[in-house]
Amino acid sequence: MTQILEKESIQQLITLHSRQLVLLAIQEYLDGLRVDIRQGTLSEEDVIQRLCRIESDLGSNLRKRLSPSLYKVVNASGVIVHTNIGRAPLAESAARAVQEIATGYSNLEYDLGTGKRGHRDLHFEKRITRLLQAEAATVCNNNAAAVLLILNTLALGKKVLVSRGELVEIGGSFRIPAIMERSGVILHEVGTTNKTKISDFREAIHEDTALILRVHPSNYRILGFTHRPPLQELVDLSRETGIPLVEDLGSGLLFSSALPWLEREPTAESSLAEGVDLICFSGDKLLGGPQAGIIVGRKQWVDLIRLNPLMRACRADKMTCSALEWTLVEYEKGSQQSAIPVQRMLSAEAQEIRQRAEKLGGLLDRDLFHIEIKEGYSLIGGGSAPEEQIPTYLVAITSERYSVNELEQHLRNFSVPIIARIEDNQLILDLRTVFPEQESIIVSFFAEMASSQ
Ligand SMILES: *Cc1c(COP(=O)(O)O)cnc(C)c1O
Repeated sequence: MTQILEKESIQQLITLHSRQLVLLAIQEYLDGLRVDIRQGTLSEEDVIQRLCRIESDLGSNLRKRLSPSLYKVVNASGVIVHTNIGRAPLAESAARAVQEIATGYSNLEYDLGTGKRGHRDLHFEKRITRLLQAEAATVCNNNAAAVLLILNTLALGKKVLVSRGELVEIGGSFRIPAIMERSGVILHEVGTTNKTKISDFREAIHEDTALILRVHPSNYRILGFTHRPPLQELVDLSRETGIPLVEDLGSGLLFSSALPWLEREPTAESSLAEGVDLICFSGDKLLGGPQAGIIVGRKQWVDLIRLNPLMRACRADKMTCSALEWTLVEYEKGSQQSAIPVQRMLSAEAQEIRQRAEKLGGLLDRDLFHIEIKEGYSLIGGGSAPEEQIPTYLVAITSERYSVNELEQHLRNFSVPIIARIEDNQLILDLRTVFPEQESIIVSFFAEMASSQ
């Protein structure tokens, strides 16, 4: 150890990092070497070689150890809201605000007018209630937490009516029956998987019924012989019986859209306008903001939810509050389609993607790669509009030198990882989900592949 520490390059590593960290790295290196020697897999020569390499190995080991394991990737999959790669990218304005709020103090819960305690909800509440013509709103960590908070506040120990056709699993173990159980409410299933009528709800109502829950079955659809009561019938029943109606919208599309692939997606605005008492949805799906659970509706219920001690356990942090506020400002300004990446990708014209695809295709090595620009589909993803396909143009690539599986794997392991998909034995890149400034990363990947070997 002392001999190693005396080496000049090791001394340099110590100045660069710290003595403690370098010592630890040397210790680990020698431990690893000892294990290999004990297993008898190394010749004497191998051992000497390993000891000679220690300086360069330590340098790269330390670099690896200190570099983050969570980093940016390029999404060329064409799936706009992809949970595994972080769902919605933030708008520039929201990201800038997060940077500023995160690195300093703020009036998060401080009323500058009175010098007294304020509430973190206020920043976003006035904006969302103005946008949706609603009475009140609160925000928590994510939509799963929002469902839990609503049930636990409004129906603890009591029955909650849900249609059997809406007892869904959203993925990542969010199952409506499980979350209901953990919320301390009693699930009362009504109707059947394919058909639930308003009379099923009506007949199920008893003294201990506290809530009617409607869930947007966002990642699947039942086709054929089906019935789901129109929202208005549930609203009428709720008004008549005084039992609150709650809707878990999931994806959080605020307003109806002229885009055909969003036509069937329920919107926050229309649910509230029809008379639902409380709605909840994710901040990082179609809204295009930070991870958050957004609850909007009647003040009486929102006030109660705020008082629930679990609210504290699920509350949104200052970075979320800031990003959400700025995301909503983009909606207030009417600039969501240009400023919010998810909204921009949803509405980008196929012809625009085609031009970008052709330009990119033209920059790749045509001797090595066979490139075809072809029609295809992007997906909304994130458990929204399951079957809706958005017409797009794809860059389809094959090569004599590399198999498509090799290409896909190399893309994933590139210095900036690129997520592509494979279809019909072609490597597929969908530029709808690629930021224009990231196209050069794709070009350099293929240039590197062409120049290697
Ligand atoms: C996505 C989704 C959820 C879970 O939302 P998170 O923000 O991921 O916690 C709950 N309900 C529905 C209907 C959803 O689509």
